Amino acid sequence: MVTDPLVARMRPFGTTIFAEMSALATRTGAVNLGQGFPDTDGPPEMLEAAVRAIRDGRNQYPPGPGIPELRAAIAAHQRDFWGLEYDPDGEVLVTAGATEAIAAAILAMCEAGDEVVCFEPYYDSYAASIALAGAVRRPVTLRPSDGGYSFDPDELRAAFGPRTRLVLLNSPHNPTGKVFTAEELALIAGLCLEHDAVAVTDEVYEHLVFDGAHVPLAGLPGMRDRTVQISSAGKTFSCTGWKVGWVCGPAALVSAVLRVKQFLTFVNAAPQQPAVAVALGLPRSYFTGFRDSLRDKRDRLCAGLADAGFGVLRPAGTYFVTADITPLGGSDGVEFCRSLPERCGVVAVPTQVFYDDVAAGRRLIRFAFCKRDEVLDEAVARLRKLSAA
Ligand code: PMP
Ligand code: GLN
Repeated sequence: MVTDPLVARMRPFGTTIFAEMSALATRTGAVNLGQGFPDTDGPPEMLEAAVRAIRDGRNQYPPGPGIPELRAAIAAHQRDFWGLEYDPDGEVLVTAGATEAIAAAILAMCEAGDEVVCFEPYYDSYAASIALAGAVRRPVTLRPSDGGYSFDPDELRAAFGPRTRLVLLNSPHNPTGKVFTAEELALIAGLCLEHDAVAVTDEVYEHLVFDGAHVPLAGLPGMRDRTVQISSAGKTFSCTGWKVGWVCGPAALVSAVLRVKQFLTFVNAAPQQPAVAVALGLPRSYFTGFRDSLRDKRDRLCAGLADAGFGVLRPAGTYFVTADITPLGGSDGVEFCRSLPERCGVVAVPTQVFYDDVAAGRRLIRFAFCKRDEVLDEAVARLRKLSAA
């Protein structure tokens, strides 16, 4: 028997909280508002296009950077929505979800010991990808303030130093639902320029901004040439299982990411790629309808959670809401979430696992609202039992 086969840098990482909590939901039959996946399918035009692609024999390795029609559709989407121009040949790369794009970008650009500035709570794969690269994360803490989250600009400035290589920015932000303000983006851009850092922006929730507008960091002065922009079909088109993501950026950065990506998965999702191209070309009403529907769900779940006694931190974007368990007598989110199925038949995710400063997130948990209304209502009805008990 081989003892301890896992490399030391991966030992701090156990099973992801999403897998743990979804397994708990399956085991207990609880309503699963933990892992963020929708319980309805994406646009029928997209689904039909995938079926057609399989029937038409588009089932072998696609080209390394992605099929031309999808790269063209990604570039057109960037131009139409965000006014950003990317050449589909060389400045656009299709990846196995945003997760692979993030990993490949970090592995491609960080030497061992390089530092990556990010905001915590951070999406779990950030910490693992940084560790795999032998790099060091420099988290800046987002703290509850005025019903949302903010950070201390001095803390951000202090996180930058001579070893800073990347800044990893996720806006709209999972799990907090924060949409970074114009002022905050300007500060981040200024620090990238001052320290000659590359920005890796995770914009998978680009179409889920309820209050205000999505502003890509790449659009700020001087940033296009030093930003690797990442998104995914999983969120915008409710097909998280397809794992079709993409990277846009200047050719030198995209080709660095491709160099690594080709040895991770080589290529991916042959029949889904033409289908995502169809989806990206849907009329604007699809995108606004999707956002409006999720805004209603946000309002529905936020009201329900407040009613059930939680302290609600209302998200400006994404399909997640974080809540403070203190008013319900909770003091530790992990404990609270592990016992929640038994107490009332609901699953949520403790957000402390996304912090280095665990104390900052100890009392916060996350609920996903990308679910049918009746599922949200049922979850709320069950959660109400907590304050009645
Ligand atoms: N980044 C963030 C912020 C996410 O919430 C997710 C979850 N889907 C991902 C990346 C991963 O996206 P994908 O499923 O396309 O790999
Ligand atoms: N992005 C999803 C979430 O935050 C889950 C993705 C995963 O399970 N890795 O819930």
